[in-house]
Amino acid sequence: MKQGNLFVISGPSGVGKTTIIKELLKIDANLKLAVSVTTRPRRQDEQEGVDYYFLKTHEFESLIKKESFLEWCVVYKNKYGTLKKEVEKALNAEQDIILDIDTQGTKKVKNQLKDITAIFIAPPSFKDLEDRLKRRNTEEERVKKHRLLESKQEFLAMEQYDYVVVNKQVDKAVKQVKKIIEQKRK
Ligand code: 5GP
Repeated sequence: MKQGNLFVISGPSGVGKTTIIKELLKIDANLKLAVSVTTRPRRQDEQEGVDYYFLKTHEFESLIKKESFLEWCVVYKNKYGTLKKEVEKALNAEQDIILDIDTQGTKKVKNQLKDITAIFIAPPSFKDLEDRLKRRNTEEERVKKHRLLESKQEFLAMEQYDYVVVNKQVDKAVKQVKKIIEQKRK
């Protein structure tokens, strides 16, 4: 049976991943984002069921018990997980799906599914990432510092990706990712 393609996009916090993915979804009707489940508090500009499914820790744990996750991880002290049904539904409908997950999650997905295309979004430099994170006002200082430290870990896992796209200019990065997606579809 013909199925959709699965793309994984990762990158350090503040690299502009979410913006790139949102732009891709606007220009590509056959692309869907797998909405993850998280225990992280909702940010002001986020919508339930669009950006994430926001759950309490006990609700998340009940999904773990039911084996509802394709993968789940702890990122910056909160739990995040990809629902099996979210991915299966899209792939069976011959729709291509993007997972916006961290590098630990990518490893877990790669262990289970063979045919995935993994793309890493990198900043032009570590200094650039630090500046972007400082400008972001969605987190308090303590959290920003923690995220920056963990970003260094994310870099170390870069080699498990099929492609690395440097986000120097958003529109160029979007074009590069779109090209990778189109190549896979051929
Ligand atoms: P944020 O809190 O900024 O939305 O996301 C923090 C990190 O968690 C990002 O690197 C994002 O890619 C990752 N993430 C989001 N959803 C999932 C998921 O379902 N699984 C895993 N492993 N990571 C996720």
